[in-house]
Amino acid sequence: MKDIEIAQQAELWPINKVAQDAGIPLEKIEPYGHFKAKIDLPLNVKRVPKRSGKLILVTAVSPTPAGEGKSTITIGLGDALKAAGKKTMIALREPSMGPVMGAKGGATGGGFAQVLPMEDINLHFTGDMHALTSANNTLAALIDNHIYQGNELNIDPRRVVWKRALDINDRALRNIVIGLGGTTSGIVRQDGFDITVASELMAVLCLATDIEDLKERIAKILVGYTYDGQAVTVGDLQVQGAITTILKDALKPNLVQTLEHTPTLVHGGPFANIAHGCNSVLATKTALELADYTVTEAGFGSDLGAEKFLDIKTPVLGKTPDTIVIVATVRALKMNGGLSKNELNEENIAALKAGYSNLARHIHSMQRYGVPVVVAINRFVTDTDQELDCLQELCRTQGVVAQLANVWEQGGAGAQKLAQAVIASCDEKSEFTPLYSQKMTLAEKITTIVTQIYGGSDVVYAPKARKQLKEFAKHGWDQLPVCMAKTQYSFSDDPKLLGAPQGFSIHVREFVPKLGAGFIVALTGNVLTMPGLPAKPAADQINIDYLGKISGLF
Ligand code: ADP
Repeated sequence: MKDIEIAQQAELWPINKVAQDAGIPLEKIEPYGHFKAKIDLPLNVKRVPKRSGKLILVTAVSPTPAGEGKSTITIGLGDALKAAGKKTMIALREPSMGPVMGAKGGATGGGFAQVLPMEDINLHFTGDMHALTSANNTLAALIDNHIYQGNELNIDPRRVVWKRALDINDRALRNIVIGLGGTTSGIVRQDGFDITVASELMAVLCLATDIEDLKERIAKILVGYTYDGQAVTVGDLQVQGAITTILKDALKPNLVQTLEHTPTLVHGGPFANIAHGCNSVLATKTALELADYTVTEAGFGSDLGAEKFLDIKTPVLGKTPDTIVIVATVRALKMNGGLSKNELNEENIAALKAGYSNLARHIHSMQRYGVPVVVAINRFVTDTDQELDCLQELCRTQGVVAQLANVWEQGGAGAQKLAQAVIASCDEKSEFTPLYSQKMTLAEKITTIVTQIYGGSDVVYAPKARKQLKEFAKHGWDQLPVCMAKTQYSFSDDPKLLGAPQGFSIHVREFVPKLGAGFIVALTGNVLTMPGLPAKPAADQINIDYLGKISGLF
């Protein structure tokens, strides 16, 4: 059965019942239809004794076209913890419509481990993406209007860094010219679009701790430079109030449920290759307040999503994970061991052993933070018993517990052992050690990430990046954390270098200051902030019938 068919047969609880089950006061629930709601914060829930629940961070090996099922495991693990009698909540990212229409499909799990209503979550949901797109483009219009109306701030139109945004993959909009049409149509300048999930506003929304903090962060956003090289921020334009107002509802976490009615917050979705890749701080905080166990996910492999969760999100969240779960599949490891996608259905122990080097490095990098690690093996029907035994044995040799999870076929029942391993792991001592100190320079921070997390040997800076390092130090921006923009497919910046490459250099071509989000993006390789659609987009399969029933979402 297809994911969408399983989802369409499910009997959902009314959202108020899900809220009651989660302990959310009903007056804090703002329903969007029958099965979705926004939560009006703060909750002011009194917990006796007052404490925060355990936090479980789900990450994965380096992704491959074979699929790893990180969201599927996050959801199935949440269901399994609930089935084990633990008060559990799940906190996930909101899908962007770009990948839904493009290559990847949705982001609501799969098989019998899904969050619902999946059609809504994957399409317009509660409108957060539209609000972000509108806020982003309102700011763009205000900047151009300021320049047109006399340019009191002396903004250099050639150095406006704030781009327009759209939540769809559209390569034709990467570079555009605006202001054509004569003197009444603005100032001609080069501009471009980013996908909404790569916009700084998305990162800002996900890191804001309340509406005041959101406004302060928006005021700090860099929009461009003056003719004499001074930074111009949203605060200089004095429009932070308007932009925050557009985002007032988008800031509220969205409540939905899994197939097994586990309360789930789906809120905020910055990409992990070009932004920090985690759901909102507010959603994770809310779940920690309400539940004994919160299962959350960070995008792509641990080198991208988890590193940023631990070095960028954790300091704002004020809570470090009690356990890190690394999702691995036999298939993905065999691809990392050199097989092509059409060779994955045959047993191949040699390729699995070769590809294990990828998982081994992810385990090693995560252990570096001092948090207990558990491996979840997402079982596919093509995996043989011998392959699964071999993978568990390899993990055992590395001193890590690895449990099979079959949530795709069985839902929470397929992850009972994994849930028990995670519960035991959360009770182990966790001594979080940050990877770097904020006082280090940007270059020192990048070298630390490259050598300790990626396993690379050094960093090579393009002339532009080298110049920016000096400029940023002068502005005092080098005290901010780094958000690496790197391909998700490899530890290196070459997407073809699978497994666990060694001795490679990371090439930083440019930095982008994201002062509102509070980090500096380091662009490596050819990471794009506006993706394109593939030759056969997922959109080719999507349809809706006269009853409004959707098919082909995946
Ligand atoms: P990720 O979060 O790693 O991108 P997802 O959890 O979104 O991956 O899963 C991607 C796709 O793979 C989904 O369509 C899902 O149904 C499918 N999938 C996940 N786990 C399995 C499995 N064990 N067997 C078959 N298909 C699976």
